[in-house]
Amino acid sequence: MPDHPYSGLRVSLATQHGKARALAPPLARRLGLIVEPVAIATDAFGTFTGTTLRAGTAAEAALAKARAGMAASGLDLGLASEGSFGPHPWLPFGAGGVETLAFVDAPRGLELTLSAVSRRTNFAQHEVTDGGDIAPFLTRIGFPSHALVVKGPDGAVLATGVQDMATLSPLAWPGNRLETDMRAHMNPTRMAAIRALAGRLAARLGTRCPACGAPGWGQVDLLRGLPCSSCNQPTQGVLAIIDGCGVCAHRGKRPRPDGVTAASPASCDWCNP
Ligand SMILES: [Zn+2]
Ligand SMILES: [Zn+2]
Repeated sequence: MPDHPYSGLRVSLATQHGKARALAPPLARRLGLIVEPVAIATDAFGTFTGTTLRAGTAAEAALAKARAGMAASGLDLGLASEGSFGPHPWLPFGAGGVETLAFVDAPRGLELTLSAVSRRTNFAQHEVTDGGDIAPFLTRIGFPSHALVVKGPDGAVLATGVQDMATLSPLAWPGNRLETDMRAHMNPTRMAAIRALAGRLAARLGTRCPACGAPGWGQVDLLRGLPCSSCNQPTQGVLAIIDGCGVCAHRGKRPRPDGVTAASPASCDWCNP
């Protein structure tokens, strides 16, 4: 068993979508934490088929879900994940995905959320047209290992979790819309992203605060002001990483992990206003 305060403890995972298989292994290996799936009505917190609009940010939604799982299970540690998909916020073409993971440790008063933005998502929609070929769309989104949601022209959900042509063909009528099913167990690309994020959470919880020893020491902020390589004035570039503890007020500063110590004059307000 790993030598960690969570070793042998149980954490509730609020889920309807089989995410335990992505989340449990890294947390068990690194911390000895036992993930216990709890079925709660997570769709009340927002669904991918658009029938419920999600309130607040993804981090707030994930924390609310984690707390709901704790309430349902009676455990004082909770875990939940939340995915958001849409046009990529930074890249001009294609869709992006953001996975968010929330962890709550009630006895310590620790709440931690981690997010990962990924360009790798199959999030897409396609309207079936008269005589149009849906095969290229199906290939692009990775059907049938990645499932589809079918909606009627009025937006009504006709089917979810469609993973075979026998089910899809009778629904592929002109006017109907095919959308990627973004629920984790229907989407191996998403499951891989959640697994990677779980590894980061395990590493984060495995890092203890140098002052109070609480799990979860790591980046809480960025210090801007990277000096311009030409005029040495501060820019908006990141100068250092601020690490912090989620339990006590201890903070620490460390250099950027990429070793960059100066900004290009192109990003400097003095050299390139
Ligand atoms: Zn400059
Ligand atoms: Zn601390």
